[in-house]
Amino acid sequence: MDYDAIVVGAGHAGIEAALAISRIGFNTLLVTQNLDAIGRLSCNPAIGGLSKGNIVREVDALGGEMAHLIDSTLIQYRILNRKRGPAVQAPRAQADKFSYCRLAKETCENQNHLDLFMDTVVDLLVDDKEKKVVGVKTKRGHNISAKAVVVTTGTFMEGRIFIGEFDAQEGRLGEEAAIGLGSSLRRMGFQLGRLKTGTPARVDFNSLDFDKMEMQKGDDTIYPFSFANDKIEKEQMPCWITYSNDKTHEIIRENIKRSPLFGGKISGKGPRYCPSIEDKVMRFPDRDRHQVFVEPEGSGSCEMYLNGLSSSLPEDVQNAFIHSVEGLEKAKIMRPAYAVEYDFVFPTQLYASLETKLYENLFIAGQTNGTSGYEEAACQGLMAGINVCQKLKREEPLILGRSEAYIGVLIDDLVTKGTKEPYRMFTSRAEYRLNLRHDTADERLTKKGFEIGLASKEALERLDEKRSKVDTVMALLSSHKVNSQNALEALRRPEVTLSSLENEITDLSNFSEDLKSLVENNVKYAGYVKRQERQAEKFNNMEKIKIPKDFDYEKVKGLSSESKEKLEAILPLSIGQASRISGVRTSDVALLMVYMRRRNGK
Ligand SMILES: Cc1cc2nc3c(=O)[nH]c(=O)nc-3n(C[C@H](O)[C@H](O)[C@H](O)COP(=O)(O)OP(=O)(O)OC[C@H]3O[C@@H](n4cnc5c(N)ncnc54)[C@H](O)[C@@H]3O)c2cc1C
Repeated sequence: MDYDAIVVGAGHAGIEAALAISRIGFNTLLVTQNLDAIGRLSCNPAIGGLSKGNIVREVDALGGEMAHLIDSTLIQYRILNRKRGPAVQAPRAQADKFSYCRLAKETCENQNHLDLFMDTVVDLLVDDKEKKVVGVKTKRGHNISAKAVVVTTGTFMEGRIFIGEFDAQEGRLGEEAAIGLGSSLRRMGFQLGRLKTGTPARVDFNSLDFDKMEMQKGDDTIYPFSFANDKIEKEQMPCWITYSNDKTHEIIRENIKRSPLFGGKISGKGPRYCPSIEDKVMRFPDRDRHQVFVEPEGSGSCEMYLNGLSSSLPEDVQNAFIHSVEGLEKAKIMRPAYAVEYDFVFPTQLYASLETKLYENLFIAGQTNGTSGYEEAACQGLMAGINVCQKLKREEPLILGRSEAYIGVLIDDLVTKGTKEPYRMFTSRAEYRLNLRHDTADERLTKKGFEIGLASKEALERLDEKRSKVDTVMALLSSHKVNSQNALEALRRPEVTLSSLENEITDLSNFSEDLKSLVENNVKYAGYVKRQERQAEKFNNMEKIKIPKDFDYEKVKGLSSESKEKLEAILPLSIGQASRISGVRTSDVALLMVYMRRRNGK
């Protein structure tokens, strides 16, 4: 074998997969179409946000890379939803897109056991008798063998971009599509579909009138994404806010027939939470304006991203509607908005390890599995990489639970329920979101990351140190009285904060702001968290009853044929997962549970 593993594509999923496998010690090849596009931020150069910020911190806790990349290259930072409950707060940062990409490349280049190679994978080498993947074939004719392959093709697999009447075989504007692998996967028996996404125009900073827009600054304090960084001190860049108006909407309505979406040229489904401006105008005719964030793409660039004006209308129409917006009257378009349509693999064809059910040693991650977003891609890449290593070590896959991590929720949703439109993570998808706060990701996952050989010993030591500091703060609170009430009890009251107690318990000022905020959240929400933990425990009992991969459902007498068909298609690995398959009856889950308990001798 040439390599232990090959990762196809160096986007956000590919980087994490390749770094994880090589860091655990296996010889890895990362094949990608263009070495200068490693870790490119295709759309908005921003990392994090609601539930996505939590995912970045989970990736970091397990030993992944994304948090380091954004901490080093951010140009604006904000905690979203600061005034709301801790379960829905999350960090978000605007990246310098050029530095992000350069650092991602440098990190991969300097990683031991990792080789980089510029080429396009057009086919997979397979052992059809054993139903195993054994390598890749490239466009320039290289056959490279490996014990495992991770496919992360993003928006490039049979990609096509659209700008009004214009279309081209590209995965991003100006970048060739990856043609071949989609047909190859179809030939192997996989079911593939088409999805689409879009991006707004980038306009020249020097052509904008900022006096007509509202400035939005970053937070004063930057709390790093990575648990390894104590603080980040950096000058931040502002963003601006403006709005579309009646004139903008009129121009769009008049030209809607020229949109490839409305004209029927694009068949793939787009993300409903991130619609194009023409979608918003047509779907919400009563709205008289839509918000537009004008965001810098980097400190060394004049390109400004028009967040909220994603479109696939022709360029003359884009020019006209952009110029109708206040502050953008003289905007010069540097890159037009466009839509891209690409092949994705229906993710119910994967186990929760992200290995395919049809072919052994083939793992799929990122946008190829129907998701949208850098963070969603990165976490899948990381988990696929980890599970390649678990497989090579002949150990059980690492599967995170829904009550343990957003990553667990995302992968379980994909492989159990599947998706027909670009899947994005939301806090509301997580039943136990109070347990999945971004500031507890290290407590939930670092030990696991260490055990599988990825998170460092220093990370584990840092966690121990943090725990002991938390204990010290708790002890300080328990041993002090405030207005004749125990300080710990007082802190449970909504109006009392840890900072307000600092005058009376001066030792509290020795601790960092993020540690104090963690303790405050722990204390204030302890009751809710306990309740969720009890619910999660019940839920986890169902997860613990395992079902073998090759289980014959004929053995369970009385199963309805509809449930049997669904179970045979998804091949759940636990009773818990079986219970979440849509269309499987509760009575059938009960039958299966009784059977499995008896079979396991319980
Ligand atoms: C126009 C556009 C708009 C978007 N809009 C949004 C949005 O609004 N919101 C959002 O959250 N996300 C958006 N995204 C999606 C975001 O870019 C992706 O979710 C994220 O980049 C996915 O990461 P990935 O690693 O799966 O794939 P990508 O970042 O796409 O990376 C894939 C990499 O693999 C390489 N590659 C592909 N096939 C092969 C092959 N066969 N051989 C070798 N190399 C290969 C490619 O060259 C590329 O470098 C948008 C993307 C685009 C292009």
